[in-house]
Amino acid sequence: MNFDFQNHRVHNYKLLMRRWTAVVRKAKLDVQVYASADDSDLFCFRSRKLTRSGGIYLSAGIHGDEAAGPEGLYQWAGLHVGLLRELPFMIFPCLNPWGLIHNRRTDTENRDLNRSYHLDDLPRIRRQKEVLEGYRFRCAMCLHEDYDAQGVYLYEVRPAHEKAIGPELLAAAGYYVPVDLRKTIEGRRAEQGWISRAIRRKNYPLVPEALFLAFTHSERTITVETPSEYDIGARVLAQIAIIQRATELVAGEELSRLGKTISKTTA
Ligand SMILES: [Zn+2]
Repeated sequence: MNFDFQNHRVHNYKLLMRRWTAVVRKAKLDVQVYASADDSDLFCFRSRKLTRSGGIYLSAGIHGDEAAGPEGLYQWAGLHVGLLRELPFMIFPCLNPWGLIHNRRTDTENRDLNRSYHLDDLPRIRRQKEVLEGYRFRCAMCLHEDYDAQGVYLYEVRPAHEKAIGPELLAAAGYYVPVDLRKTIEGRRAEQGWISRAIRRKNYPLVPEALFLAFTHSERTITVETPSEYDIGARVLAQIAIIQRATELVAGEELSRLGKTISKTTA
């Protein structure tokens, strides 16, 4: 077996959570173990500034074979501890630890957790929904990867009157990973990697996390997809760039009020 250290490292859930510990402390995040599943604790981190409305939701690792999501989210947080202190975030650092450890899309019972948000009998999903109850986010981002992708692309769900931010996020990511230029991606029309999604609940009997959020909790919802066949380092940088650009675009006013210089995504 060809065992690449970088790939091995990004699938090490215990190590990932140990690395988060320092970030959590510096950013003064509140930590909640909201469930345990397949022998791992599931964590939710909250900024001290998080209130019931207007927060930013970030999650990764619901598909365990998409390692750039959890790694990118962690590395972004490490680079932007100040933002985590000053802005309202709710973070789910890895929703499927067993999948991450075993490089599998599903959980131990071969369930795709990202088609399970209509269910109430799956304890980890039910517990996550309880954690989310009463929260309304201005933006939610779910970090994924796609084995078949030819570059980075993303889905955006937003109210009709709101300007899209997806193309700007792709421009930020495109510095590290080429944008997927196919005209049709996963059966949907795409413009330079951007898939604008109008959603109707009845069309989704199996509800993914992003659409559960869009139906219930978030004004704007972004699903990021980096191409999992590309170099892991570049994919991680693309994820970091997208999270940071989204934060700047959705929280730009607070950032300028705070008088912060928006830091670059990489040094
Ligand atoms: Zn995925």
